[in-house]
Amino acid sequence: MTESTKNYVNGEWVVSETGDTFDVENPANSNEIVSRYQQSNSTDAAVAVSAAAESQDSWKNTPGPERGRILREAGTVLANQKEGLTGLLVSEEGKSYAEAAGEVQRAIDIFHYFAAKAADLGGTVKGSSGKNTTLYTRKVPVGVAALITPWNYPIAIPAWKLAPALAAGNSVVLKPASVAPGLSLKIAKALDEAGLPAGVLNVVTGPGREVGSEFIENESTDAVSFTGSSQVGQTVYDQATDAGKRVQTELGGKNPTVVTGSADPSKAADIVATGGFGTTGQSCTACSRAIVDSAIHDDFVAALIDRAESIDIGPGSDHEMGPQVSANERDSTLEYIDIAVEEGATLAAGGGVPDGTAVANGYFVEPTVFTNVDSEMRIAQEEVFGPVISVIEVDDFNGAIDVANNVQYGLSASVVTESHNEANRFIDEADAGVVKVNQKTTGLELHVPFGGFKRSSSETWREQGDSGLDFYTIEKTVYDS
Ligand code: NAD
Repeated sequence: MTESTKNYVNGEWVVSETGDTFDVENPANSNEIVSRYQQSNSTDAAVAVSAAAESQDSWKNTPGPERGRILREAGTVLANQKEGLTGLLVSEEGKSYAEAAGEVQRAIDIFHYFAAKAADLGGTVKGSSGKNTTLYTRKVPVGVAALITPWNYPIAIPAWKLAPALAAGNSVVLKPASVAPGLSLKIAKALDEAGLPAGVLNVVTGPGREVGSEFIENESTDAVSFTGSSQVGQTVYDQATDAGKRVQTELGGKNPTVVTGSADPSKAADIVATGGFGTTGQSCTACSRAIVDSAIHDDFVAALIDRAESIDIGPGSDHEMGPQVSANERDSTLEYIDIAVEEGATLAAGGGVPDGTAVANGYFVEPTVFTNVDSEMRIAQEEVFGPVISVIEVDDFNGAIDVANNVQYGLSASVVTESHNEANRFIDEADAGVVKVNQKTTGLELHVPFGGFKRSSSETWREQGDSGLDFYTIEKTVYDS
């Protein structure tokens, strides 16, 4: 690997005016540099915004079916490259091969789904009290949308923001996370091949504080959609609202699975382990708290330890669980493990880095289980974003719901139960944007809304499904006499 990948601006592949680049390493083997990208600055970002603004009129006036045709074609271009895209995802972000292939397929499906939506953005015809008046609503694009995305789903998240934005007729500037930016540029290439007009999509890599800030503050952007950590998200939200922009923030989680006294402990352990250790615990919806009725607590813990210790850890292609994405993320997880021990939780499985030559140069962490966790401990309150599950024992179902809701987040929550009544109560009482019964907290279908309660989201907007288009459209009411 010697050449750097360029930014995509105004339909061209361009280098940053800084002349600087940054490298992305393979998190499964830090000796391997996978790729090199532009270390762009605010001037590069401003040029991208200008290109988007200039293309806006023509793109919003492009007929919906034509916009849809381009999105469909881009999905097909991505589908034809599925193998290569999956390989890039594994080597930049570290997911296991199966997880990466599933994510790439999701991005393809998202483009095809929103391609169909582009032809009909919706609107309503109403009766009017005025004689001879036709009263109806129609939806128009917001304008230039700035998208800022995280590294943990480096193709699915850019796709689920980009496809509805373009379908609705917005022009876009996109800044992917620097740890794994390659897939966003692959999407740009696919859209370019599919015939997207110059300037409608612009992708600029580089630091959030430079590129992201310029996108937010530039007077030619109209909307900001951000997914990432709660800390950065709060700054972005404040900055964007101060600048008068429409803003959507999708942030962290501290997702619970409640295991009631009626649950089968072994089935519950499977659900909790797949939700907590899948994608190395690096999903915003990952299960990080198992809240377990004391009637089955000991059997559940034994089964969960068994699951944790049987997971095959190693580099993407041949193993079940990959590394954390970076040294920083690994160190942050190990720090939380130390904090939990200091707080008095019992380390029941994992807790360190695995041994062996296959994992020696990667950022691997063992699947970790803590028991004797109190709901007020930091390990039970703060997002860890690694393969760590805390088991909190409770006396009854009422106590379980109290503990489940006793966090500042509210993204996904699940219950494992054989009781229909408990399931219904959980659906009613869990403070979470996604509620699941007898399923893991992770895993989303693309045609239904996604978003959280409390600090997990700005609650006004949802992503995905029909609701995913709302953020990118403004409803106009027409009185036509
Ligand atoms: P992050 O907040 O560190 O970065 C997200 C993006 O913001 C990156 O592109 C980054 O470069 C950019 N950025 C950083 N500082 C900025 C600034 N001052 N102004 C503008 N942009 C800036 O998050 P991350 O580590 O990439 O992702 C992990 C986090 O994302 C976790 O907290 C996870 O829960 C969350 N997440 C949430 C969802 C959801 O839908 N709720 C989905 C996936 C991930």
